[in-house]
Amino acid sequence: MEELTRKVKEYGASVGASKVGIANAELLKNPPNQEFDPFELIEDVKTAVAFYLSLPESVFDVDPDNVNDVAISRGFTYVTLEREADLIAYRIANFLEKEGYQAVPISTKIPMELSLRGGIAQPYLQRYIAQLAGLGEEGKGNMLLTEDRGPRVIIGSVITNAPLLIDGPNLVGKLCPEGCKICAEECRPRAIDPDERPPYNFNRNRCLWGITGALIASGLDEPPIDWVEAKPNALKVLPAYKKRYPKFERLDLWNSEIGSFPWCTTCIAVCPVGQK
Ligand code: SF4
Ligand code: SF4
Repeated sequence: MEELTRKVKEYGASVGASKVGIANAELLKNPPNQEFDPFELIEDVKTAVAFYLSLPESVFDVDPDNVNDVAISRGFTYVTLEREADLIAYRIANFLEKEGYQAVPISTKIPMELSLRGGIAQPYLQRYIAQLAGLGEEGKGNMLLTEDRGPRVIIGSVITNAPLLIDGPNLVGKLCPEGCKICAEECRPRAIDPDERPPYNFNRNRCLWGITGALIASGLDEPPIDWVEAKPNALKVLPAYKKRYPKFERLDLWNSEIGSFPWCTTCIAVCPVGQK
């Protein structure tokens, strides 16, 4: 078991993962507010191999209100590294199959409507697996914080029936200091309540104002009341806002050309954890 775990982690690093951890698959069954049962994918699933890729810090230095600059640097990097994480997951799964086990890569993209808990920029399922694999902890900004890169990471994972040594959630409670409120204070749409803990401190509709680009397109820091109160979520009223703010056309052009990415990442950029 020890030898196979070492080989998987070394292989993950050799194909580009910044760090690899192992979670107990038993704990992944039916996470809160998320439809997921690893036993439906592999009957005798035992572990999950989680990993992350580091985002370059410089892409967070661009002017967050400049559509072209954001898209061509940070947006492009997000889309590229998400695809890279999917490919790494595929390669790790292949590696495990060659070792004689079943292995299924988990997509880095999960529709927001099917991932109902907490922050939107990273899928909740991937955060959940990564936390249980000892790669970090969910910080106040509802993002996975890692030791060396804070929340500036793309997360991927593979579930398998390979018996691997489990790292466990050993960074929980160690990375996001109780007194820090920086992400909440810097979030212009006020999506994060600085005085509560995840997931009860996060307003998804307010975050969607930033993530969808409505913040940039409108020039308004905070969303109007119909956006905040929209059900099941603010994507319902997004088409009306696209008609109201012509600048959305430029955002949509980029998204159709390079793929979708979070237009706002301020909480990620300002988090001091893992800053170089
Ligand atoms: S800073 Fe942006 S991405 Fe972060 S919570 Fe606020 S709106 Fe969402
Ligand atoms: S900015 Fe501070 S409060 Fe927010 S996630 Fe990072 S360490 Fe935690």
